[in-house]
Amino acid sequence: IELGDEGDESDWSVRPPVVTVMGHVDHGKTKLLDAIRDANVIEGEAGGITQHIGAYQVATQVDGEERKITFIDTPGHEAFTAMRARGSQSSDLAVLVVAADDGVMPQTIEALNHAKAAGVPIVVAINKIDKPEADPTKIRGQLTEYGVIPEEYGGDTMFVEISAKSRINIEGLLEAVVLTADASLDLQANASQDAQGIVIEAHLDRGRGPVATILVQRGTLRVGESIVAGPAHGRVRAMIDEYGHEITEATPSRPAMVLGLSAVPGAGQSFLVVEDDRMARQIAEKREARERAAQQAKRRV
Ligand code: GDP
Repeated sequence: IELGDEGDESDWSVRPPVVTVMGHVDHGKTKLLDAIRDANVIEGEAGGITQHIGAYQVATQVDGEERKITFIDTPGHEAFTAMRARGSQSSDLAVLVVAADDGVMPQTIEALNHAKAAGVPIVVAINKIDKPEADPTKIRGQLTEYGVIPEEYGGDTMFVEISAKSRINIEGLLEAVVLTADASLDLQANASQDAQGIVIEAHLDRGRGPVATILVQRGTLRVGESIVAGPAHGRVRAMIDEYGHEITEATPSRPAMVLGLSAVPGAGQSFLVVEDDRMARQIAEKREARERAAQQAKRRV
């Protein structure tokens, strides 16, 4: 079964960018993801984003238009590492967080190299500007030395000064993400084909059985459809979004928690919709056998 976009271009439409937040430890990644989540107060959603499912989607106004962004929200970012290890391209864009008081550190460079290797554009969030010792100009200079040149210096990378803790300029950062995506990416997907995507995280829930947060990359996933996710398979019994609501379908770039799988798939594994349960089971068994063979081969080396 081939993965990819189907149909001609008339079937395609713009999908929201999928964003990961990277940077040195303690520079404010977790705080920033919290701030973005809290900034997304949509009318009628009294509780806001209440569920930590590994990813969430927010909306922001850019040039008077409502635009959506999906953030991968994984504590410790082990899911991101796992997805990278499996070679799955999970995000379109990276926000590189650099603390304005601390400056560029080893993990800043590491994150930068990962983004470069994956070919994803970055937006630099200079964080902690509320601190008296913050020196955003120093950060611009340091990153310029690594080839990340701010727009205001004639380069093509947007730098945004924020405070995740004091909630300063979070909207400005979201706008920079949308503008960077518009300028350097052509994010389109066919929402009418069978769904394909990746697993963000998964676990075994005592009451609900295997639970997996998936990210739809192409097509639309619907409750009742049969899917294969890594070595797991099953019919989608229910889908739950980051608001805790049950949803019946998930379109491109939408994350959702899926119930109904036979087992717990791994972060970064791909999923796809297949014709029926029987086919799903067959493919899942083949995948499992292949994975087992690969593991054994690895052990032999
Ligand atoms: P992570 O390791 O990158 O996820 O960093 P955290 O989000 O856990 O933040 C590390 C520490 O920096 C915590 O004590 C935060 O409260 C603090 N912090 C994060 N953002 C800001 C900020 O904008 N201003 C200040 N003053 N402190 C911040």
